[in-house]
Amino acid sequence: MDKCIFCKIASNEIKSYKVYEDDYVIAFLDLNPASRGHTLVVTKEHFDNFTTVPKDILNHTMNVAQLIAQAAITKLGAKGINIITNVGKAAGQSIMHFHVHVIPRYEDDGLSLTFPPKQIEDKELLLISDSIKSGM
Ligand code: 5GP
Ligand code: ZN
Repeated sequence: MDKCIFCKIASNEIKSYKVYEDDYVIAFLDLNPASRGHTLVVTKEHFDNFTTVPKDILNHTMNVAQLIAQAAITKLGAKGINIITNVGKAAGQSIMHFHVHVIPRYEDDGLSLTFPPKQIEDKELLLISDSIKSGM
């Protein structure tokens, strides 16, 4: 099977502006950053998304994302951070190789990641919570 673009970056076949690398993950600047310092933490092994990555590697990826978030605050002057991982096309995932976005935020940076509120009835909330619980 052809390697995906993040597999190629992870194996250094494609150039990236790397900020971190170890045996399990690589972190590099997003080519089209949403903000200054927007970084992607990517597993070296190919997993499709958050739902299929093994837990130990997931935990490690999040630890590295935390280090990058801390560095963005102390070294880039970020005032906040968004941590995002998209799962599937419906959620906006465009590269089908698990990755975590670390998006530094600044006062008045103009970025808008909003969740428009919707009305929902209690009985529907109960049904939904039961469905999720039964799948865990
Ligand atoms: P997704 O939409 O899958 O959650 O995020 C994919 C991200 O990868 C996007 O923010 C996009 O800008 C970034 N991206 C896509 N191709 C490349 C590339 O070749 N190099 C780098 N550094 N980032 C990329
Ligand atoms: Zn891949």
